[in-house]
Order: sequence, then structure tokens, then C-alpha cells
Amino acid sequence: MANTDGLALPAVGSLTLQQADRDLWGVIDAERQRQQHSIELIASENFVSRAVLETLGSVLTNKYAEGYPGRRYYGGCLHADTAENMAIERATRLFGCEYANVQPHSGSQANQAVFLAFLAPGDKVLGLDLKAGGHLTHGARANISGRWFQAISYGVDPVSHRVDMDEVERIARRERPRLIIAGGSAYSRTLDFARFRAIADDVGALFMADMAHVAGLVAGGVFPSPVPFAHVTTTTTHKTLRGPRGGMILGNDGEIMKKINSAVFPGLQSGPLMHIIAAKAVALGEALHPTFHAYAQTVVENAQALCGRLAEGGLSIVSGGTDCHLGVIDLRPWGLAGNVAEHALEQVGLTLNKNTVPNDETGPTVTSGIRVGSAACTSRGMGPDEFREIGDMILALLGGVRAGAIDSRTESSIREGVAELTRRFPLPY
Ligand SMILES: *Cc1c(COP(=O)(O)O)cnc(C)c1O
Repeated sequence: MANTDGLALPAVGSLTLQQADRDLWGVIDAERQRQQHSIELIASENFVSRAVLETLGSVLTNKYAEGYPGRRYYGGCLHADTAENMAIERATRLFGCEYANVQPHSGSQANQAVFLAFLAPGDKVLGLDLKAGGHLTHGARANISGRWFQAISYGVDPVSHRVDMDEVERIARRERPRLIIAGGSAYSRTLDFARFRAIADDVGALFMADMAHVAGLVAGGVFPSPVPFAHVTTTTTHKTLRGPRGGMILGNDGEIMKKINSAVFPGLQSGPLMHIIAAKAVALGEALHPTFHAYAQTVVENAQALCGRLAEGGLSIVSGGTDCHLGVIDLRPWGLAGNVAEHALEQVGLTLNKNTVPNDETGPTVTSGIRVGSAACTSRGMGPDEFREIGDMILALLGGVRAGAIDSRTESSIREGVAELTRRFPLPY
């Protein structure tokens, strides 16, 4: 075959990325090395297995499979159906529920599907305030959930920093929202899901639990499951669950899940990402393995070890500790801003994010806190001793920032500590 210039038309490329596009290959290799050589403490991140990574780069990316298994709008979906059914079966077995929709491209789209299925624009939704640890998609002003819906929020108690269920009940009774949301991105304590459901029933609202952060801990049996209590549970698959980037919706009510399915497709999305769905199946299979319980348990122990050390060093932990993989650290005792701390820590290979704290006088680009998470480094095999060591590094560095300058001996000893830990606990890629 020849094109109009008389040149042979090549078949689709058979070169490796390194051969075909050296520049982009170099970018990915640099990122691989960054991950290998730094201490990842971002609470929403994790490291997938090689098996999950391999699935993400598989030929399933070529396949269009609009619709659901057995009811597709394209031919050739036999293997796509099998992969999606495997993901659904594993999700329902792992979380002990009747139904799962594994197609949402992200946690945000899973939440949007719930809004689309049950609300009309202008309807009232009640969620945890973003400033108290809630998520953008739970009614923040800048998000579609706050722009197209009437969003109201509950906060945390100013002293205990915990959700006050009596306050949730008072607001729900006064405002009568159509949807009540539990869950957040920077909230480190268990939630009373049974009480949330009772309040929702009392005011005639739908109860959605968003377990995006803690799904892996729920799967591992170390954090209370919202699934038996919520009308619908949404999640991401890439945080503590340690799968590919994506979302998922779980439920036990057939009528509700029928509406959810129509909201995901054709309501919100068209073609599902079959390579991602297959990778979800692989990750869910890993989470069903008995060793995942030990992983989840260690994740919580590690977060507690890290927060404990930071508290011993003089920093203040929001709510006084953690029940999960994350901790929010209040830097006000040391007079430091979150953005300054984030930047200084990144320079020595400790990656985390700035975070607002309860009663924060600063905005989200400055903040008075940082958020730490243990899921990623636990996946590398680190335990409480290593997390206490990481705590010491954070304290030493922030102590220097607080004093106005980090002496070079402290800085190089932290860098050596990071290098030693990452060498001792390598990533498999
Ligand atoms: C991370 C998160 C999401 C959004 O997930 P994306 O995949 O980034 O869209 C939704 N809800 C909560 C509580 C989260 O923490």
C-alpha cells in the first residue's frame, strides 16, 4: 500500500515507547525515578502492583464497549464482558453487596452519577464542609455539585474536630436535603454510618457514603463499612484500594442501582475504559487475597506511628490522632504555613500536601496544615519503625524552617535518610 506521496504506508507502530518517542519516554522514566527515590506521603496516592500496571497497558484500551455486559452497543465484546463481569463479581464479594457499577472514570464521576440519578438542579444536598475535610464534589461552590445544586454543609466540632451527629441531625431536620453525604478527603476518624442512615430515613433523604479514601481499609476489614447502611456507596479505586485511577458505585437496592446504571451510561459517560476496568478486576482480586488484611492493618498502624511521633515532636494532630491511613497536622503551634512546609519537604524528597485545618484563618493556597498518608509507603513494605523515622525527618526539617534556616548537616542527613529508606524498600518497577 502507498500513500499519495508514494511512500509505503507503515502499519501501526511496533516500536517500543523508548524507540518511538524518546522525549516522552524520558519524561516517564524521570517520573518513575522520582517515585522510586522519594517518600510518598500524599494520602490519596498509592503504588499499584506490576500486574495492575501491565493490565493498564493492555490491548483492552483498543475496545469500545458502550453499554453493560450482555447489553452492548458494539460487536466483539465477548472478552470485555468477561473482564467487566469479573470486576463486578469481585467488587460485590469484597464489599459484601448485591450490585456494583465499575464504569465511572473517576471518583468525581461516580458522585456525579448519584446526583444525576436522584436529584434535579437546585435540589438540596448536605455534605461535610470542604474546609473541615470534605470533598469538592460534595457541594463545594467551585464544583458542579455546589453550582447546580443547593449545597449546605455540616462541619466538625471546634474542640474534638469530629463530626457531631447531633448537629448533622439538626441541620437535616431544618433543611430537609434530598441527599446526605458522608465521607471526606481529609477526615481521619470513623463515621457513624448507621446514624447517618437513620437521619436520612427520618428526613426522607437518600444517604450516599463516599469511601474514596478508606475503601482499601474497609476491604481489609480495619475500618467500618458504610455499604450495609448507605443507599449507595461511591469510591475511587486508586487510593487505599491500590488499583488503577477510577471510580466505582456499590449498592444493595436493585431499583436504586438501575437508576445509577442509567446515570453512568448513557447519562454521564459513553464508552467505558475497558483497560481500566480490567485493572480494577486485578486490584480487587488482590484485595480479596488474605494478605490484604495485613496490608490494611499496617497502613493504619503506620499512620498512627507517624502522627504519634509528630505529636511527640510538638505538632498538633487534628482530632488528636487517626483511625485510618491519613492524618491532618496543624502547624500553627510552630507558626508555619502549609504551603511553605509542603515546598520545603519536597526539596528533600518528602512528598505531601498542604491542607486547611479546622478554624483555619488562611485560604486553600496557603493553609495552616499538612496532610500525611501511609498507604503508599506501606505498599513498599515500610512499617511503624520506618514511619517514626519519617516523622523525625519531618520534625527536623520543619524545625529548621521554623528557626529561619536549615543547617546543611541536618538537610544532608535527611536526604541520606530518604535515600536509605527508598533503597531498602524499592518499588518493583
Ligand atoms: C479523591 C476523592 C474523590 C474524587 O476522586 P477523583 O478520582 O479524583 O475524581 C471523591 N470523593 C472523595 C471523598 C475523595 O477523596
